[in-house]
Amino acid sequence: LENMVRQTEKLSAIGQLVGGIAHDFNNQLMAIGGAISIIKTKCYTGDCRKYINYIEKCSNNSASLVNRLLTFSRESDYEMVPINIHEIIYSVVEILERSIDKKIDITIALKAEQCMALGDESQIQNTLLNIGLNARDAMVNGGKLVFRTYNSTEDRDKNRGTNKDYIVVVISDTGIGMSEEVKERIFEPFFTTKSIGKGTGLGLAMVFGIIKSHGGYISVNSVMNVGTDFTVKIPVIDTVTMVPLQEKEGLIKGNE
Ligand code: ADP
Repeated sequence: LENMVRQTEKLSAIGQLVGGIAHDFNNQLMAIGGAISIIKTKCYTGDCRKYINYIEKCSNNSASLVNRLLTFSRESDYEMVPINIHEIIYSVVEILERSIDKKIDITIALKAEQCMALGDESQIQNTLLNIGLNARDAMVNGGKLVFRTYNSTEDRDKNRGTNKDYIVVVISDTGIGMSEEVKERIFEPFFTTKSIGKGTGLGLAMVFGIIKSHGGYISVNSVMNVGTDFTVKIPVIDTVTMVPLQEKEGLIKGNE
């Protein structure tokens, strides 16, 4: 718990710092966006159009990343709606496949019966993408990347009549793994083992903040030179009533 508190304090300090940078960066992105829309009116041919669309997509992605940085410490800006975690995983894998240029096999085994959660779609997508990109970077000579899901319950709820409170997403890689020292620090803002220009050390700090604000948990298992498993747990909602299962079953806001 103490770790959690320290982490939360760090996150709000970082929120202020990052906010300043993100604001200036946003102005540059607006200029890029303006230029793109002008070029789009002038180029219609196949390849040219294709690449412009690609630049536009990347620029939009950057804008939404900057937006997330700007809302880093303002959790209320999240747009919490029913989201389908399986669909998000498919879209993340699609993006990953395009951003991987070495031999990495991506497998998905989505076994959760209940995969609807209350969340911010782009935040959750960004979270899983971040973990996936880290996995890619860890598999310097290629390897296997697996996305698995299943439903589970928290231990404290085990005897409460439901076993499907959470959707668990496990992302496993066969990469370089982490030492104990690295593992302890990965969620710290600005902690990175990557070279300058390759890593900011903000990815997992953001991931931590996003998952926490979704009422979820994240944990990591890693063995040096064998690989790493990231486990993300997010509360699911009942697909009929669209309320969190725990709430429905009276586990959180019971009417006893
Ligand atoms: P960045 O990717 O910019 O370094 P992150 O916060 O996403 O920042 O990650 C922090 C560090 O955690 C990485 O630099 C790396 O050392 C470690 N890490 C994260 N994911 C993995 C992984 N799948 N395998 C090995 N190391 C990892």
